[in-house]
Amino acid sequence: MVIGKNDDHEEELLSLKELIENSRKIVIKIGSNTLSTDKGEVNLHAMHNIVDQLVEWMKGGKEIIIVSSGAGICGVGAINKWFRRKDMNYKQALCAIGQVELMMAYKELFKEYDYHVGQLLLTRDDFNDHSRNLHIRNTLFTLVDEGVVPIVNENDTVSVDEIKIGDNDTLGALTANLWGADLLIVLSDIDGVYDKNPKEHPDAKIIRQVTDIDELKRSISTAGTNRFGTGGVVTKIEAARRVNEFGIHMALLNGKKEDILRKAADGREEGTVFYG
Ligand code: ADP
Repeated sequence: MVIGKNDDHEEELLSLKELIENSRKIVIKIGSNTLSTDKGEVNLHAMHNIVDQLVEWMKGGKEIIIVSSGAGICGVGAINKWFRRKDMNYKQALCAIGQVELMMAYKELFKEYDYHVGQLLLTRDDFNDHSRNLHIRNTLFTLVDEGVVPIVNENDTVSVDEIKIGDNDTLGALTANLWGADLLIVLSDIDGVYDKNPKEHPDAKIIRQVTDIDELKRSISTAGTNRFGTGGVVTKIEAARRVNEFGIHMALLNGKKEDILRKAADGREEGTVFYG
């Protein structure tokens, strides 16, 4: 199913395979669902698989920035308590512990391939301040130019929003815009955007191509949240709007699937593409 008229896209829309092929600068947002097992534990196997594919892309000349969720889950895994605590200070404490675990996991995984990682913890305010903006940009460019993989996350300790709405989709979009990416890839636990929540409606139909986000929002239902009570598909659609405005494409793909990036790059898997 295609949503949106083809006015601004007179020529044929590129396939996901072609988009990936043409994109040099790619931001990958990895959601909590992708990084965790069904039991809510950190899924090191999935992380390894994603890192392995990203390294392949980097060796092929692509530049990569990762925006990663998962600090909360890693925190629970590390300390094995507080997971039922609803109080904000405990959630933030868990993220403070888990962020270290998360970065340690990335560091070890990338080290296998002789890559270094760098951590950037950002808040929404950082993007609204001109001078901070400049410094973030310069740091990102320097890391990427030097072949280091930047890993961005929201600074959970100071930003309440992240825990409330799991807004790393927006963080991914802001990062893509700031860096001037060609493509934002959002990895979640669904094959793309459907006309209704596929977890609740087995007959839901997938939407492959979107060129009009308002029309998309009018035509689908987005009810239902995940077990972490975070963003859901709406923040992903709004992230697409943010990057599309700057001419950056976004693809929503199923990060739960082994080799998803490899398969998308050679046309064996699709997702939902939002054209910028
Ligand atoms: P992540 O933690 O990977 O960022 P979220 O759980 O926040 O992902 O968002 C994805 C979830 O949104 C899906 O697992 C699905 O249950 C839900 N959802 C609700 N409506 C839709 C829809 N129309 N199309 C796709 N997913 C939907």
